Amino acid sequence: METFFGTYSVIKRSWKYTGLCVKSLTYNVFDSTIESIFAPLFCFVDFATRWFGIVFVFIVSALITSVVTIFFLCIVPFILVTYHPLYLSLHLFYGHYLLMMIVFHYYKATSTKPGNPPKILSGVSVISICKKCILPRPLRTHHCNVCKICCLKMDHHCPWINNCVGYFNHRYFISFCMFMCFGTIYVSFTSWPLFYDCYHVKEKFLRFQATLYFLFDWKSDTQSGFLKGVITVDTNGKSFCSDSNGKYSTSIVYVWILCSAVSLALGCLTLWHVFLISRGETSIEKLLNQKERNRLRKQKKNFRNPFNKGFVDNWKEMLGFHDYRSFVFHVLLPSSHVPNGDGINWPCKHRPMFVA
Ligand SMILES: [Zn+2]
Ligand SMILES: [Zn+2]
Repeated sequence: METFFGTYSVIKRSWKYTGLCVKSLTYNVFDSTIESIFAPLFCFVDFATRWFGIVFVFIVSALITSVVTIFFLCIVPFILVTYHPLYLSLHLFYGHYLLMMIVFHYYKATSTKPGNPPKILSGVSVISICKKCILPRPLRTHHCNVCKICCLKMDHHCPWINNCVGYFNHRYFISFCMFMCFGTIYVSFTSWPLFYDCYHVKEKFLRFQATLYFLFDWKSDTQSGFLKGVITVDTNGKSFCSDSNGKYSTSIVYVWILCSAVSLALGCLTLWHVFLISRGETSIEKLLNQKERNRLRKQKKNFRNPFNKGFVDNWKEMLGFHDYRSFVFHVLLPSSHVPNGDGINWPCKHRPMFVA
């Protein structure tokens, strides 16, 4: 009997202790609990992002290079025989323009520091102290766990550029996303007839024969190199595509699927960032503002984002233009201009944060 009561008391104590543990975890805000539970996972993700960042950059560069190479080898000959020379010139101009803008903005997004607050701040609107850096933290500045430093107007840490997206490189990031979307959509549309023909050999594809004769001095009995086997001539003199499983078809299918997938995924991401920039918010501020919006709604108060200057002015500030001329030179052409301001002082139109 004594053993039974002893066991019962141990179970009772263990149950109470478990209850206390659960209460201690859920006593504070729910977010803190979730944060505590997932802390090891977050640590691992931060660690992996930090160490594999350079690999991600290499992957992006390799994918862009592969698409450009296949475009020149496989798609440009198709454009050459399909369209009028004037249309071909437009194609080549637009394609090269997009390539230039993508490469420029990707390089700048990866190599430009987002901006970090100075260790000593005087006469600025400091809102808090960073718990990890133990340094003053100005408005819109947040700590990056991957870079292990505070970042001015931090949006997020992007593994694809192995860099934080912040005050000084936000423009490069959004411009890269936009031009990359235009580029992948352009390649997807241009390669669609070829992609279609790789599965459905049709008359249209036979136009290639003329190009191959012209560009590569191709003959049915002396095929060689990369394009070997693309077009075959049978005993009746009729041409047909015989490359349904060859390198050419594989390249076209690869390019079309890759560009379509990137258009879709990056398009959604870009639209999300366009939405945020139009509202004068960063990704982090979107979460924080939403919390405050919900809290104030319960008190029947309205939330106003103090950094929202309106749709047009938000974009002017982000892209750094104020008239047509600066729009051309700062937005449509590669430009290394820096944003106005210092990323530390943020003059607000109305009382910071919340207005009844
Ligand atoms: Zn910090
Ligand atoms: Zn970072």
